[in-house]
Amino acid sequence: MVFFCGKPDRGDDMSLQEIKNRIARAEQAANRPDGSVKLIAVSKVQPNERVEAVLEQGHRIFGENRVQEAAGKWPAFMERYDGVELHLIGPLQTNKARQAMELVHAIHSVDRPKLATTLARLAQELGRCPDLFIQVNTGEEDQKAGIMPAEADGFIAECRALDLPVQGLMCIPPVEEEPALHFALLAKIAARNGLSGLSMGMSGDFESAIALGATHVRVGSAIFGDRVKAAG
Ligand SMILES: *Cc1c(COP(=O)(O)O)cnc(C)c1O
Repeated sequence: MVFFCGKPDRGDDMSLQEIKNRIARAEQAANRPDGSVKLIAVSKVQPNERVEAVLEQGHRIFGENRVQEAAGKWPAFMERYDGVELHLIGPLQTNKARQAMELVHAIHSVDRPKLATTLARLAQELGRCPDLFIQVNTGEEDQKAGIMPAEADGFIAECRALDLPVQGLMCIPPVEEEPALHFALLAKIAARNGLSGLSMGMSGDFESAIALGATHVRVGSAIFGDRVKAAG
């Protein structure tokens, strides 16, 4: 028996619509066009029934942290639901890169030269490549993935020289800090490099991310309810 301890107003059938409404209001408040923000429903570690409920409500854009987990549950969903778009938002090991590229529509965690060269080689081999976001470690945290802010411009140039389809940047702000500072820093690095995509904002801070230009928000628990176990 598994017990969930989600708040009663989270993870029910209204949650998806409520988040969509809040995104629409945040777009308006920031004078941004309707629909300019993509909602990635982060389904990692969630029971299949909850994921299915969100698919049944018509949502098609999902995020997963781990290639293994994504490969275990999404092929079956994709057979049953058309138009699923899967985003890998967690760290990617080079030995899982091929599997990831065959499965997902976008990778948000390109964070080091070795991974970039591997993706470039595989893109040649496969004849296609998912949309890519470069993860920036805006808080310069030891335990967190991402290229350091001071190295971001060089790394973006390196990825472009490899012909990788870099759409934008991604960050996960440190838990103890004001996320807006990190969103602003990410937006600044993107702007000076001519990148339009900004993958930033989670359940607790997506409205602030939208105010600062997020194009992709990654929302998990506010849609599905609390995760039973924290995923990396
Ligand atoms: C889990 C996760 C999210 C979603 O977090 P919530 O707080 O549940 O919305 C977003 N981005 C990344 C990279 C994650 O690992």
